[in-house]
Amino acid sequence: MRIVVLAGGIGGARFLRGLKAALGMGADTTENDSTITVIGNTGDDITLFGLRVCPDLDTVMYTLGGGANEAQGWGRADETFVVKEELAAYGMQPTWFGLGDRDFATHIVRAQMMAAGYPLSAVTSALCDRWKPGVRLLPMTDDRVETHVLIEDDQGRRAIHFQEWWVRHRAALPAEQIIGAGAADATPAPGVLEAIDEADVVLLPPSNPVVSIGSILNVPGIREAVARKTVVGVSPIIGGAPVRGHADACLTAIGVETSAEAVAEHYGPELLDGWLVDEADEGTRVKGIEVRSRPLYMSDPEATAALARAALDLALELKEREPSGEPGAGTEARS
Ligand code: GDP
Ligand code: CA
Repeated sequence: MRIVVLAGGIGGARFLRGLKAALGMGADTTENDSTITVIGNTGDDITLFGLRVCPDLDTVMYTLGGGANEAQGWGRADETFVVKEELAAYGMQPTWFGLGDRDFATHIVRAQMMAAGYPLSAVTSALCDRWKPGVRLLPMTDDRVETHVLIEDDQGRRAIHFQEWWVRHRAALPAEQIIGAGAADATPAPGVLEAIDEADVVLLPPSNPVVSIGSILNVPGIREAVARKTVVGVSPIIGGAPVRGHADACLTAIGVETSAEAVAEHYGPELLDGWLVDEADEGTRVKGIEVRSRPLYMSDPEATAALARAALDLALELKEREPSGEPGAGTEARS
């Protein structure tokens, strides 16, 4: 079975680990009939100290490769911060983004390869040679796309990098607009559209619907390709609130209510065939989308594997139901 997953950072990475467990994918993925291709969000990427940092790709890579700081959900295990302290001692900005020493090595390798002319997809593949995440990890695009946020503070009205808004201001400054700089001119990275076209099903983990999944879908061509497949998503919103992070601030910025129902409506029936909501949201109905309630907290490996299994099972069930096997086939995809 060929599965494609569109992933942001922590929510995506944890879901993927559950999906691998549900499919019995151990370290040796050659022994499994299933393949997982992950299309990772690069809208959060930022250049710091001359280094290109890809937080979501790295969170997936470290988590699936066994190198993540589990308690925190991102960054490396057993991390130290000597370089960060030394940079601060030189008065270097920014100081609000946490880059550890081990993590720095990843960004140095990436910067060096990119300076030598390798595209991000080739760099990601090279980094994964070390981490062996057991999935094919593709950036959504090799082009530079960055999410910026329009805010107003005492310095006036201006767009700041998503990370400055999210990490430095903890998304507390109201976002007037969320802008995918460069998205309209981007092309999907090599292999992305092919993987979607060849997929049996596409799964949307409980990743941020605006700045993670939304950024991926905004790369021209990806939304249309995904809409042609059987797609099942897992709600990142439980009982009207994000499980962690500030997805509510992102949803508010695009005029979507913070609820499992509103997020499914935002994706829409052209894109989404099935939607898993938590038991707290039992009774949620969305026109044109099959909604099921399941425990959606990825609290331990067993619960996470069970929720990934439920998403996959619903996708396979909905795919069976379609005579053509492709729910979107023959209908105009929403642009
Ligand atoms: P980020 O890039 O690290 O912010 O991560 P993602 O975009 O992948 O996902 C963050 C989203 O995952 C947030 O909106 C959280 O609400 C959601 N999330 C985190 N943990 C859980 C969980 O255990 N269950 C569910 N259903 N959602 C979760
Ligand atoms: Ca992210």
